Amino acid sequence: MGLMERHRDCDHVRPLGRGRAGKLIRGSRIPTVTQLQDDVFATDKVLLAQLSLERKIRLLTGATHWYFHGDDQVGLRPIVVSDGPAGVRGVRFRIDRPVSSLPAPIALAATWDPALIHDVAAALGREARSLDVDVLLAPNVNLVRTPLGGRAFECFSEDPWLTAGIAVAYIRGVQEVGVACCLKHFLANESETERKIYDARIDETTLRELYLVPFEVCVREADPAMIMAGYNSVNGFTMTANRPLIRELLKDEWGYGGAVLSDWTATRDTEASALAGLDLVMPGPDGPWGDRLVAAVEAGRVPVAEIDDKVLRLLRLARRVGALSTPERAAATSQGPTPAPGGGSWAPHRVDPALLRRVAGRSFVLLRNRDALLPLEGDARRQIAVVGPNAAWPRIQGGGSAMVLPVRRPGLVDALRSAAGDGTVELHPGCRPWSIVPEAEEGTLHDPVSGEPGVRLTVRAEDGALLYDARYERNAVTWWDDLPDAVHAGASSIVIRGRYRPAVSGPHLIGAAGLGRMAISVDGRRVAEATTLAPPELVGLIARPPELRVPVDLEAGREVEIWIENHLPASLESGREVEARPAAEGLPTTRVHSARLVIFRLGIAAAPDEEVMIAEAVEAARRSTAAVVVVGSAESGNSEGYDRDSLALPGRQDELVRRVAAANPRTVVVVNSGSAVLMPWADEVAAVLQVWLPGQAMGEAIADVLLGVVEPGGRLPVTMPRREADCPVLAAEPHFGELEYSEGLLIGYRGYDRAGTEPLFCFGHGLGYTDWEYVALRPALAELSAGEDLPVAVTVRNIGTRSGREIVQLYLEPAPGRGDPGRPQRALAAFAPVDAGPGEEATVRITVPSRAFARFDGSPRGWTWPAVGWRLRAGRSSRDLRLSEPIQGR
Ligand code: BGC
Repeated sequence: MGLMERHRDCDHVRPLGRGRAGKLIRGSRIPTVTQLQDDVFATDKVLLAQLSLERKIRLLTGATHWYFHGDDQVGLRPIVVSDGPAGVRGVRFRIDRPVSSLPAPIALAATWDPALIHDVAAALGREARSLDVDVLLAPNVNLVRTPLGGRAFECFSEDPWLTAGIAVAYIRGVQEVGVACCLKHFLANESETERKIYDARIDETTLRELYLVPFEVCVREADPAMIMAGYNSVNGFTMTANRPLIRELLKDEWGYGGAVLSDWTATRDTEASALAGLDLVMPGPDGPWGDRLVAAVEAGRVPVAEIDDKVLRLLRLARRVGALSTPERAAATSQGPTPAPGGGSWAPHRVDPALLRRVAGRSFVLLRNRDALLPLEGDARRQIAVVGPNAAWPRIQGGGSAMVLPVRRPGLVDALRSAAGDGTVELHPGCRPWSIVPEAEEGTLHDPVSGEPGVRLTVRAEDGALLYDARYERNAVTWWDDLPDAVHAGASSIVIRGRYRPAVSGPHLIGAAGLGRMAISVDGRRVAEATTLAPPELVGLIARPPELRVPVDLEAGREVEIWIENHLPASLESGREVEARPAAEGLPTTRVHSARLVIFRLGIAAAPDEEVMIAEAVEAARRSTAAVVVVGSAESGNSEGYDRDSLALPGRQDELVRRVAAANPRTVVVVNSGSAVLMPWADEVAAVLQVWLPGQAMGEAIADVLLGVVEPGGRLPVTMPRREADCPVLAAEPHFGELEYSEGLLIGYRGYDRAGTEPLFCFGHGLGYTDWEYVALRPALAELSAGEDLPVAVTVRNIGTRSGREIVQLYLEPAPGRGDPGRPQRALAAFAPVDAGPGEEATVRITVPSRAFARFDGSPRGWTWPAVGWRLRAGRSSRDLRLSEPIQGR
């Protein structure tokens, strides 16, 4: 077999220049700030001069939840924003308009493959563009400080450099196809408990060397068009009014030329936020700026120059996304209709499902594979028992603002059935760790009026007048659904009813989830009623609404009419009419109702005794040639709005895994969770595959990996702990409003290494279907000057029998005896993927950025490059380091 050497430039960690201005990004369709010409800036100043103070300030608060204001006078159309980061939701969550659902960001980072993420992000950008979205509210580059963090799934990693590398690729991908990114949440938005009020207390070295790194690298390398200021405070200043961080660091020191907008409802004051460098308050139309800001300017408390700077940044954004009309374009638009809110013509340019399937497979991390059980081959595929709650009720995405209404793709059982040829595949949920009763299985509910699949949705006004009565496809409505505007204008009751045909006889559970007065009736008989209360954090409500539950006994095949009613509480954010769109020249302005909070959902499912469920699953595993146990988070397990209570799998899942593994030695556990969970059975099962929250391709991608169509390509972007107590940081709760980042630099693997604690699976770990030998590590220099990057070549050999992909990881350690107990023992310095066929050798060229050798010492000197010795180590994970070379700083 001939040896082959490959060369590949590292896509990732690019050197961080020490200059102040952003770099020019080649090939970008959204021009960078530095690409905009001086004459453009001059034109914007002319536009600015045409606006009165009131008109300028009107532009600085959103028009609605998802639109900025336009202004005909300067040819500015309203800019449309929409949530990412794992899909683009669009301005309405319409049931007839599903969109692509990507793997959660933590899974994207688990690929360690910036080139692939770039392609996925470009495809996402094209989908956003086709939905008339100008700005995608993504990516989220906060760090996974604790695995309990509710939004850990939305972050990339516990490591700032892996985060930065993936984020740069993501932003470039989206912005290259003409959609702007809004990087979020600036800064230290790592917890959801009391998320709107906590004050993160962080020393400057930790800020500079950890939490600011992804923001700084993205600003310099990818020029995100917008940055979102978070809800929390940092060191005493709320982030929307944090002058030291926004004005002085982000804008003055780093030279950021984009616009800073507030997280939704995060701005609490007028002058402090305006003076701190915040440019835009969201959502609108209300908020603390408007007339109050006009008055503050007129009274001389806020300089006009501050306002002008904000408007110029907004005009620059408008120019970048094409929202500023030239006179010719204005004339052209006024001749034809402008699309309705949300896009009148529905022609989404969805992400190619094959690409989503590929990236999902690349994100799966094979944690363990005893005796090469995976891929399942030969006899092992003859009869597969698929068991576990997440096989029956898969979690493809996390909750909160990252949620989309996803395109439907085949589930795991269907995907395995179609791929496994003659083999048989059976499904047994095994237990039901539901946080909320699941929605009815497809085809079991029908509208009692038309007889068609779905339910009847009826909305009445306070005086009983009928506002809406129609068949509805889903049995859940949320405030962003495409409900009649009347709902938002103050309707008083919603009824969902459907004819339900049970598939099995026995106990069932009916759940009515929502806020306010709830009632459940079966065949005209009221069986339960209660009033549920609003939790303190409303976004979390979408994933974890309070639920009224009632057990009922049903007979297979005998239909019953289920009826649930909700009287909406008047107090919650009542809707009002606002100006939305188009505001394009010459066209009438549309008026819509701003959304009020509505969440109401019917759940119904068979609920047999769990002991029976486990016994059935174990029996199926015993008579099968392989068992695949899919466990993981429950429906509300990962969401914005609250942190997790525990790292343990909910319900009886650990017991299920152990009993199935005891019944069948060929047991593969598939873990479907948004971040780390405890796996107390890890040593008792043959194989463990971490699949995160994989998006719409979940079923197909797991089947591909189990059957060996593709290799699981992921490496852990976070550490998997053996016990909760081992986590360097666990609790996410602030004390008396303060969240002390007292661990300093020692989060994630940095903390485990320093404490000498053995995790269950370490940062960077992940197996493939082949094996690798590390042949050579060749740094281009043995001595480095301050500020110098280090080019490195690493040669690896595929010593297995099939083609594979390795993620070459470089770590930097202080030379033996030179460590400092407050600092990490080792830190990721750079990485790059490399492919090789069986027996082939490949060389990958990677640049370690100069910053990896620097420290921030807090003095006015800022970054320094101490003249000390280092060890550069290369390997397969943070704890499987195969080669080492000394480097001397000078
Ligand atoms: C979240 C943001 C999100 C915004 C708009 C906020 O609650 O923190 O990440 O972009 O809502 O949905």
